[in-house]
Amino acid sequence: MNTQLLINGQFVAGEGEIEEVLNPATGEVIARVAEASLEQVQAAVAAAQAAFASWGRSTPKDKATLLLKLADAIESRATEFARIESLNCGKPYLFALNDEIPAVADVFRFFAGAVRNQMGALAGEYLPGHTSMIRRDPLGVVASIAPWNYPLMMAAWKIAPAIAAGNTVVIKPSEQTPLTTLKLAELLADIFPAGVVNVVCGRGDTVGSPLISQPEVRMISLTGDVSTGQKILETASKSLKRTHLELGGKAPVIVFDDADLDEVVAGIRTFGYYNAGQDCTAACRIYAGPKIYDKLVADLSSAVASIKFGDQHLEGVEMGPLISERQRKRVASFVERAAAESHIEVTAGGKLGAGRGFFFEPTVIAGARQQDEIVRKEVFGPVVSVTRFDAVEQAVSWANDSEYGLASSVWTRDVSKAMQTAAQLQYGCTWINTHFMLVNEMPHGGMKKSGYGKDMSVYALEDYSCVRHVMVKN
Ligand code: NAD
Repeated sequence: MNTQLLINGQFVAGEGEIEEVLNPATGEVIARVAEASLEQVQAAVAAAQAAFASWGRSTPKDKATLLLKLADAIESRATEFARIESLNCGKPYLFALNDEIPAVADVFRFFAGAVRNQMGALAGEYLPGHTSMIRRDPLGVVASIAPWNYPLMMAAWKIAPAIAAGNTVVIKPSEQTPLTTLKLAELLADIFPAGVVNVVCGRGDTVGSPLISQPEVRMISLTGDVSTGQKILETASKSLKRTHLELGGKAPVIVFDDADLDEVVAGIRTFGYYNAGQDCTAACRIYAGPKIYDKLVADLSSAVASIKFGDQHLEGVEMGPLISERQRKRVASFVERAAAESHIEVTAGGKLGAGRGFFFEPTVIAGARQQDEIVRKEVFGPVVSVTRFDAVEQAVSWANDSEYGLASSVWTRDVSKAMQTAAQLQYGCTWINTHFMLVNEMPHGGMKKSGYGKDMSVYALEDYSCVRHVMVKN
């Protein structure tokens, strides 16, 4: 398993402190990765800066050829990537293999195609005797900072649009989950010119913060916590670096009385607990209509009690452990505080799982009210709250009454009600009669404290490039 950093096409051992990387199902150390020193961070940025001179001018066709080669290489090593991701994150192996790795390969394929098909170039005479044209150019070095919940996928979401647009990258994976990004580094080193993508490991304060502060860095892309986004903005404000922030979420799920209850229950059972609920779009905040509420709580609770959870390697496991003991304690304390409220009932789960790992039972909290912490704060664990509403306006207003604005869903058989509700929701995405599904052709990104900027789609290519005007005197 590679534990070395990738700087200027070379693998080098980190010169900083050693970080232990754990299997969250057992708490055992599975790797030791040394952090990058400040000099190594600076060397990675210098390598990216040097590589930009030619990568930034390479043709879309040349970039696309290498992106496609990378996608093929990822697919051909799918089992190895899935094995490492599953071991390090606690994801069921088959979910990593069948859901995540194909989606990762497709990110690179999508941007290989998108960069050769950019629309919207204008050329014309807007001043007599002068021809104006629009260029879309790369920015330079992008510092990418990734979280621990989907390490390889987040690396792909950041690297693919950035390099397709002609930038070069220094990426820092989460200190808790660096292993698949380090595996990806082996393929990047084989396929791309030295310095186009560099990988440095370490914590946010020791490596992330110096990385984003380097003067040659032109753009910072973060997927992480709101508080981390705020710190990054403070740093970026000093030199006015461009920022791209994908932050937290607390997705509302509005279930109208006429919804297909079986579909709703199956949907929440899957999309509320996928990745143990450690997902910024998790279907975690249910608002149920007055007639469907009781049956929804009853059916959802028994459906959730049937989720098979445990070690990610066991056959048939649908939900693994949380990423760390810290995260488990955090989730448990949210549930304890909620359970202490007299109007709340924990109707499924609610307890720590057995064993040495960081397990927490898939949990349903019924009777939650709009002002309750469990409805307002991002838990980032396998916990779904259900709240009863009386009128459509109330459901929409409660759904929007959140500091977040990433993802939402509406469940009803009435198409016009669905469309009217979707139009009023202040979220980057609204699903109708489903939840969670993403496609590379469509943008993913938030509003309010969920951040700004889009991952995936041609909008990401725009975010990672600069529109310029060139005027010629005829
Ligand atoms: P985090 O903010 O703690 O860490 C994210 C990354 O930022 C890590 O690599 C970390 O080392 C780095 N970091 C921390 N402090 C830093 C600093 N001062 N300077 C530079 N880098 C720093 O988040 P996390 O716990 O890894 O991930 C969970 C969070 O990510 C949740 O809040 C979740 O909602 C969010 N998330 C959002 C999306 C989205 O698409 N909007 C997707 C996945 C996760």
